[in-house]
Amino acid sequence: MSSKVSPEHPAGETGNIFNIQRFSIEDGPGIRTTLFMKGCPLRCVWCHNPEGLEAAPQLMWFDVRCIGARDCLGACPVGALQLTAEGMLIDREACDACGKCADACPAGALEVVGRRYTPTEALDEVMRDEAFYRNSGGGVTVSGGEPSMQRRFVERFLSMAKEAGLHTALDTSGYSPPGVLTRLLEHADMVLLDLKLMDPDRHRELTGVELGPVLDSARLVGTGDRPLWIRTPVIPGCTDSDENIAALASFIGEELASARRWDLLAFNNTCGSKYRRLDLEWKLEGRPLIEAARMERLADIARCSGVKEVVWSGATRRES
Ligand code: SF4
Ligand code: SF4
Repeated sequence: MSSKVSPEHPAGETGNIFNIQRFSIEDGPGIRTTLFMKGCPLRCVWCHNPEGLEAAPQLMWFDVRCIGARDCLGACPVGALQLTAEGMLIDREACDACGKCADACPAGALEVVGRRYTPTEALDEVMRDEAFYRNSGGGVTVSGGEPSMQRRFVERFLSMAKEAGLHTALDTSGYSPPGVLTRLLEHADMVLLDLKLMDPDRHRELTGVELGPVLDSARLVGTGDRPLWIRTPVIPGCTDSDENIAALASFIGEELASARRWDLLAFNNTCGSKYRRLDLEWKLEGRPLIEAARMERLADIARCSGVKEVVWSGATRRES
């Protein structure tokens, strides 16, 4: 897949999307299509979409698909690939994710993650499932990464989706300049907001950014009539203490009047291979899943917020 921007669409009017997820039932009401925008200013240690962190397209190598054909090596114009006994070495300084190696590979072992779409192209994709949205009360969700990093595309896309009669949702980390968030909210029927930690030091340590701007965004989206769904990843040793969930519950109960639902998402440890494909370190290797009883207990604490619907989901381990 080529990552080049076609000449008639300057980069500012296109969006770099790393996944278009059809038939999603977790990113808002009904059946939805979710656009995952590439690029995030946070670096949550538990992030299960590492391919969405960098704003630029990136090359990924799938070891299980590689048949050693070596066609990719000659196809690379800058000599960025070496196939060794340890696997494919990608010189990421030299690689500009042109995709020529991926085109040459007969086994599909190389892929460029991230593709540019115009708002019209993205909407055309989304409209393929219009009948499902209509019948289920669904629509389209723009997620990431952090969508506000591609403000121009997302604003244009959401406004076009609304003009087309779709229900629109914005899924944000909250780490977004208030002016940008306000502009995107004009075209969003609802908001999904990640709230992770209430301790400022732990927030900085585990996400790489300050807590203050996230809480400011929460207050911005937490008032008025627009429905708000909160999402909290429950990560063992990071966000899963009673104290953290209780502190989040107090903040949500006291300050976020538009919160309609709070999802607690149990830790998912299946993303290690994605980190390896990008030459990144998966820092939570070997960390166990959470027990179901523990998720129940945290959900009970979360219910103290007064949010009408508190739901937990995800894989859990058997009690020891
Ligand atoms: S905010 Fe979401 S996408 Fe960004 S690093 Fe955290 S978990 Fe990953
Ligand atoms: S994506 Fe392009 S630059 Fe990168 S390794 Fe493949 S052919 Fe070379």
